[in-house]
Amino acid sequence: MKHIDEYRDAERVRELAQAILEIAPATMTIMEVCGTHTMAIGRFGIRQLLPPEIRLISGPGCPVCVTPQSDIDAFLSLAGRPDFILSSFGDMLRVPGTHSSLESERTNGADVRVVYSPLDAVEFARRCPDKQVVFFGVGFETTTPAVTIALRAAREENVQNFSVYSAHKTVPGALVALLSDDGPRVRGFLLPGHVSAIIGGNAYLPIARDFGVACVISGFEPVDIMQSVLLLARQARDGRSEVENQYKRIVTSDGNREARRIVDEVFEPCDADWRGIGTIPGTGLRIRDTYAAYDAREKFNIASPTDSIEPNGCLCGEMLKGRLAPSDCPLFGAACTPSHPIGPCMVSSEGTCAAWHRYGGY
Ligand code: SF4
Repeated sequence: MKHIDEYRDAERVRELAQAILEIAPATMTIMEVCGTHTMAIGRFGIRQLLPPEIRLISGPGCPVCVTPQSDIDAFLSLAGRPDFILSSFGDMLRVPGTHSSLESERTNGADVRVVYSPLDAVEFARRCPDKQVVFFGVGFETTTPAVTIALRAAREENVQNFSVYSAHKTVPGALVALLSDDGPRVRGFLLPGHVSAIIGGNAYLPIARDFGVACVISGFEPVDIMQSVLLLARQARDGRSEVENQYKRIVTSDGNREARRIVDEVFEPCDADWRGIGTIPGTGLRIRDTYAAYDAREKFNIASPTDSIEPNGCLCGEMLKGRLAPSDCPLFGAACTPSHPIGPCMVSSEGTCAAWHRYGGY
């Protein structure tokens, strides 16, 4: 039975759809840059509620998907070493590297453990002092504080057999790179509520100001997303490019300073490779020298492989730039499905191809 709030929400969503229809600009492309939004838009049929003039496209919002093949291959290179435990969040398990995946390595006998929190990986290290436990640090500003806490705990307790392979990334620089590239003409960004809770709304001011793009930080319920689209459409109608915060119940202008402070203590900015986009200066996070003993790249002298190649025929890179939709990929739904995924956008629970396969696209 439906909860009464769902009926109220449905009525509100209908009102918002009507309001958007009444002010819809001639054409407007809105990019969402959050895997949770990608899933919510598909799950709640948001695209189907909007007038055809408003086009919702996905950008580089799925952290698993934007992790380049070279980082996956580099992390997988540890699987062949004896006495290693590799740990990661569950989404990474089936993401294919060039020759293998964590799941395949586990089937072949490697000790691969899925964790819900990086602190679980520290606990493995405490319990298995004769093993090296390496955590695959993948994620945006939302995830990095939890990895920071794990690194601090390991150092405070002198857990010397724990380390992190950092492939962490930050969002605003990627949006700038997308706008500077010859990608789709984005008029509005539907901005990630979770990331924004950490970095704050002010982090997007240069994007709105310098690129003339409307920015709205959005929550994840259908009403949140529809309200955010309405705010973006109003900005387009009025010729404004501002940062607006629809998700005020969680996000402030300044974000979470304490979270940023502890992250800054452990990580420093570096250049980062993004799948499909390439190297974006200053959008990666490397572990500071003061924590070098816990940096798997340093500790185990892991070099980026030179022979990494994308899965044959996979267009995830173009998808992450918003240039293509899953239905443009000839493999979508045929050779590539959630049970037989070829690229990360189909593997990840936040991937665009997975969302389209599960819920449909346009
Ligand atoms: Fe890659 Fe599969 Fe998506 Fe095609 S459908 S882009 S092969 S993940």
